[in-house]
Amino acid sequence: MRDGFLAHYVYTLKIRTSRNLPDSRKGSDIMITKLVYEGDSITIDMEQLCKVLRVKAESPHFAGIQELALAARKIATVKAVYKVAFVEAKGENSVTIDGITFTSRVLSVNLADTYRVFPYVITCGEELAAWAKNQPDMLENYYADTITEMILKNTRQTFFEQLDEHWGLESTANMNPGSLADWPITEQRPLFNLIGDVEALIGVKLTESCLMVPIKSVSGIHFPKQGSWENCQLCPRENCPGRKAPYDEHLFEEKFKL
Ligand code: SF4
Repeated sequence: MRDGFLAHYVYTLKIRTSRNLPDSRKGSDIMITKLVYEGDSITIDMEQLCKVLRVKAESPHFAGIQELALAARKIATVKAVYKVAFVEAKGENSVTIDGITFTSRVLSVNLADTYRVFPYVITCGEELAAWAKNQPDMLENYYADTITEMILKNTRQTFFEQLDEHWGLESTANMNPGSLADWPITEQRPLFNLIGDVEALIGVKLTESCLMVPIKSVSGIHFPKQGSWENCQLCPRENCPGRKAPYDEHLFEEKFKL
């Protein structure tokens, strides 16, 4: 931890563009915000970490895990970028946001009452990925990988809380390309196009198969929504450690089927 040093940095970039925007918005400023989380703003809950790793505080592995957690916290620089974007058109299976069309029935239904959305990408960056990968043995490698996952997850939560507070959003939800068959991973391309030059902004690029590099990155659209929504409600994957809500096998039929 860097003593007495920073919480997080926020940069807001104003970009004047006419790309893909309707006439009414051509030439208007587009706000892209970049956030950098380091030091005190990186949180690792040791109790939660030990639970995930199934290691008890009295285990001989505990001290080593704590050391790894401290080392990760020292080098972690998590970067996030988002922009404020506007829904311009909605079809039965599609939504057009700032001139870019996404194809998904679930996204279209979930954005039915929404006109302002927040597309984002968050990454742990190359430094942490390299640190985790370079651990000397398989067990430490696994611990370091889990710590990196936790840093990403916790920072994503902090990011959403800050975004909601900043924009006065009371109830929000997220959708992520690739998490549902209805919104496949290939929709990462329009998402990245919507945000802008994500690689130049925070160093995340897409492979040909639309995976993000660095791998410990997350992307999606954050939006205001009354009531609860988790992609997991429509995802049948069994034993997923990331599950946030139970699978509802009737939900698609009841709520999203045309
Ligand atoms: S259950 Fe797992 S894979 Fe499925 S949407 Fe939730 S987190 Fe993603």
